[in-house]
Amino acid sequence: MEVRAKKALGQHFLTDQKVARAIVDALSCPAPTGHLFPVLEVGPGMGVLTQYLLEREDIDLKLIEIDSESVEYLLTHFAGMQGRLMEGDFLTLKLEKLFPEQFAIIGNFPYNISSQIFFKVLDYKDQIPQVVGMVQKEVAERIAEKPGSKTYGILSVLLQAWYDIEYLFTVGSGCFAPPPKVESAVIRLTRNSRTDLGCDEALFKTVVKTAFGQRRKMMRNPLKPLARAKAERSGWSEEQLADFLAQEVFSLRPERLSVEDFVALTNLLA
Ligand code: SAH
Repeated sequence: MEVRAKKALGQHFLTDQKVARAIVDALSCPAPTGHLFPVLEVGPGMGVLTQYLLEREDIDLKLIEIDSESVEYLLTHFAGMQGRLMEGDFLTLKLEKLFPEQFAIIGNFPYNISSQIFFKVLDYKDQIPQVVGMVQKEVAERIAEKPGSKTYGILSVLLQAWYDIEYLFTVGSGCFAPPPKVESAVIRLTRNSRTDLGCDEALFKTVVKTAFGQRRKMMRNPLKPLARAKAERSGWSEEQLADFLAQEVFSLRPERLSVEDFVALTNLLA
């Protein structure tokens, strides 16, 4: 018996074996440290990636799958699932309990939660040296996009601050059952060498998210509350606040700013 595809769980099973192998091959764990590198597969479904992951001798595989029917399928079709396979929601998983040290993430991600998956990766960025994932093509493009493009956005900036992003290849909808309405793409995120942003990290996130709140507009309006908070902290007059907001950077649209520009902007608002 095969697993019945459930739309609400974003289930589109990859049926193309060549693509499955290419995704697994794209995972290049950091240099061997004498032990198997821990890898978490998100949403294994019927195990099309899992079969190749289990063949790899350099990794220690764990899996998290929310769908009990898929869990049952995996338990009956693959040996060695005990102790590796967890039934549950990746988004609420306490990763630090599961992985005391570094681990990588791989998966043909459920598209309805792919952004949330990447935000969770950011929460654990110092423990996650690499992510290989299949997502909706538009999401892959957005994440990999450079400043100046129309699709450059919150996730592009936040992920590019900490990861080198590679758009690896496009996957047509015919490679899945049932076929999704959109094309897909595989991306690889590899942690860069940055350990410190050069600004307050929490404020950086707030600035980026707030600036893109009105992405087609100058940043002056959306960022006004943050500037006002700074004015209050600094005991500025209304006039001083107006002068501050008259600076040229506030006339730009957020999509023009690189990671470094957002760091500078964060320091301005700190
Ligand atoms: N890897 C499989 C399935 C991809 S479809 C393949 O390539 O064919 C996405 C999978 O993610 C489904 O199996 C779905 O049940 C699972 N899933 C959806 N939401 C999840 C969540 N929050 N946590 C873990 N798995 C989830």
